[in-house]
Amino acid sequence: MQKKVVILGGGESGTGAAILAKSKGFDVFLSDRGQLNQKYIDVLDREQIPFEQGMHSESRVLESDLVIKSPGIPDTVALIVALKEKGIPVISEIEFASRYTNAKIIAITGSNGKTTTTLLTYHLLKNAGLNVGLAGNIGDSFAWQVAEKEFDYYVLEISSFQLDNIEKFHPQIAVLLNITPDHLDRYGYDFQNYINSKFNIVQNQTAEDHLIFFKDSEVIAAELSKHNIDSHQIKVSLAHKPAEGAFLHEGKLISNVANGSFEQVFDELPIKGPHNAINAMSAIAVAQLVGVSSEKISEGLKSFTNAPHRLELVEVINGVTYINDSKATNVDSVFYALGSFEKPIILIAGGVDKGNDYSQIEALVRNKVKGLVVLSKDSEKLERYFSGITPQIYITQDVQDAVNKAQQWSVSGDIVLLSPACASFDLFKNYEDRGEKFKTAVRNLTIHNN
Ligand code: ADP
Repeated sequence: MQKKVVILGGGESGTGAAILAKSKGFDVFLSDRGQLNQKYIDVLDREQIPFEQGMHSESRVLESDLVIKSPGIPDTVALIVALKEKGIPVISEIEFASRYTNAKIIAITGSNGKTTTTLLTYHLLKNAGLNVGLAGNIGDSFAWQVAEKEFDYYVLEISSFQLDNIEKFHPQIAVLLNITPDHLDRYGYDFQNYINSKFNIVQNQTAEDHLIFFKDSEVIAAELSKHNIDSHQIKVSLAHKPAEGAFLHEGKLISNVANGSFEQVFDELPIKGPHNAINAMSAIAVAQLVGVSSEKISEGLKSFTNAPHRLELVEVINGVTYINDSKATNVDSVFYALGSFEKPIILIAGGVDKGNDYSQIEALVRNKVKGLVVLSKDSEKLERYFSGITPQIYITQDVQDAVNKAQQWSVSGDIVLLSPACASFDLFKNYEDRGEKFKTAVRNLTIHNN
């Protein structure tokens, strides 16, 4: 009899999983509690995959042999609890897709820097002529690509939610960039649960595999000391010089991995800031492991363009530099954003707080931030924390008003930085929407000035 697979959630990853499952001969049913995008409905119709939307038919879901769950659905919802009680396996799309590919998997995780490092690693490998795919939390669904394409390598951006539901997922190269508090609302407000989830990335690695990690992270170091990790460890550091690994020394990225030795002046690269040195070194280490030449690595680093909304330069108006870092949705990313600039900063922050602890950026705000604009529906926590730490605070729910205030406070040489430390959905559709509206508001300033 055909095995029954139910897919919960019909976005990019769910639809991709449905297509792969169908191509592998499963009896597939897709169920989404919300409304499906027409583009996915058309695909499901074309592939003759039955689906429902607006609800989950519990009895049908509970009759399946295997459930592939969207990362957006928490493990604590009643349906998932019921599935687990019945002993029905619940896995993520990456787990499912990885069972059907022979490609070598490079899996990149961390609280911050995943997208940048994934895109850069993909770019370095692609630029070197390797047959490489890009998937995970980014772009086209992993499962969909596995169903339709053949690659020698996949570079995957992996979130903690995807790692919550793996069984055999086994990256030949895992990259762990950092672990700082994030998404605690999904982890019972217990940081250790979130750390455990990130560490799932190494759970199936063997002695032939590699783990590239940021050595300076105390959280990672402490956690590593608790585990017996089988994989070969490669360290990335801003402060130390590992025997095998990558480090920053006198402005140069130096990487000694897999008998390769690579050097590159960091300032010559388009990505800036200490966090991007960590991201670049991690990507370089991967490239060396898969045998990319130093010349090709250097070429790829120089021709890389990062995705928008990550410390993106918007405009310089009357000597004031406006930076869009809308993707900074947690405190650690703001820490690195503030660390990337020396000049006086006007910080625009706020949104939906995910259980933030602002002590990590307190000293930086005290030393560098001449004014804080809180762009938020609920501004109380930020206002309370930073009053007395920064000379002036302004509260608004309107992005143009926020930018106007920042301009009013600024003088030539200052930085106006949108780096919110919070999620965006109180006032915006998502972080991209927030970043785009910020850029428009900044460009409106140019128009008024001319
Ligand atoms: P992610 O995909 O993990 O959210 P991104 O590459 O999209 O990571 O970057 C998100 C935010 O985090 C950006 O605002 C960026 O400035 C900051 N950031 C990028 N890399 C790092 C890093 N290694 N450590 C801390 N913050 C980082």
